[in-house]
Amino acid sequence: MSGIRVALSGAQGRMGRVVGPGLEGTPGIEVVARIEKDDDLVAAARAARAEVVVDFTTPEAAAGNARKILEAGCCGVIGTTGFTEADLADLDARARAARLGLLVAPNFALGSILLQRFAAEAARLLTRCEIVEYHHDGKADAPSGTALRTAEAIAAAGSGAGAGGGPPGGAPGARGAEHHGVRIHAVRLPGFVAHQEVIFGGLGEVLTLRHDAISRECYLPGVVLGIRAIRGKVGLLRGLETLLPR
Ligand code: NAP
Repeated sequence: MSGIRVALSGAQGRMGRVVGPGLEGTPGIEVVARIEKDDDLVAAARAARAEVVVDFTTPEAAAGNARKILEAGCCGVIGTTGFTEADLADLDARARAARLGLLVAPNFALGSILLQRFAAEAARLLTRCEIVEYHHDGKADAPSGTALRTAEAIAAAGSGAGAGGGPPGGAPGARGAEHHGVRIHAVRLPGFVAHQEVIFGGLGEVLTLRHDAISRECYLPGVVLGIRAIRGKVGLLRGLETLLPR
């Protein structure tokens, strides 16, 4: 059965091994290539006549792979984290020049996008918060791309939310990292998949928003949504939320 022609980069990784079979079982999507570290992404995507390349690789490979996806004439649905602002600006310019769409989304779980939305809402009223994120100990980057995006959404709420206050603490790092004025604490332990809490503290009350990715299958619906939506778009789309109804 023919459908959207998708190449999967990072097919043998933890995410690739879940997303690959999931895409194969999805009506309207055809997995036409599996791309590994030593493969030539441009040549493989072109040879397979891929329309969309899905990338779950490593932060080191992410920006180079995104450029190769555009070079191959494909749209991209990129779950790999670790892009810098400079990378993203460069990719937006390249995608616009090529008239192709590139979705870079640090989290494809719909519940996580909702957590981000609810945190931005809460930050309008409860102005002090910190983020705690928990991941498996194989995760390369810290803090997670999702935590960084959540901190940005909280900061964009414009209320001055984020930790800011409290003493700095004695031991280096004891108060976490800071991104856009929001403190983020990253836990890396075996047993976790991907979990995030945004904890708001107010006068005599604490509100905890929490999302748990129980298994990597939770990312599949978002990846499928991204694949279906990205064709026909031009430029960089940052975050799955750009494709979801408000
Ligand atoms: P992983 O298990 O380390 O898998 C990465 C795979 O990519 C490995 O098979 C690796 O091969 C391969 N690879 C490395 N460089 C490559 C290249 N240049 N071209 C093609 N393949 C290459 O990592 P993971 O847990 O699957 O996570 C992958 C990425 O997705 C991470 O950045 C993670 O943070 C992110 N992630 C995103 C979401 C989301 O919803 N957006 C969810 C979970 C994870 P080798 O083993 O040979 O190096």
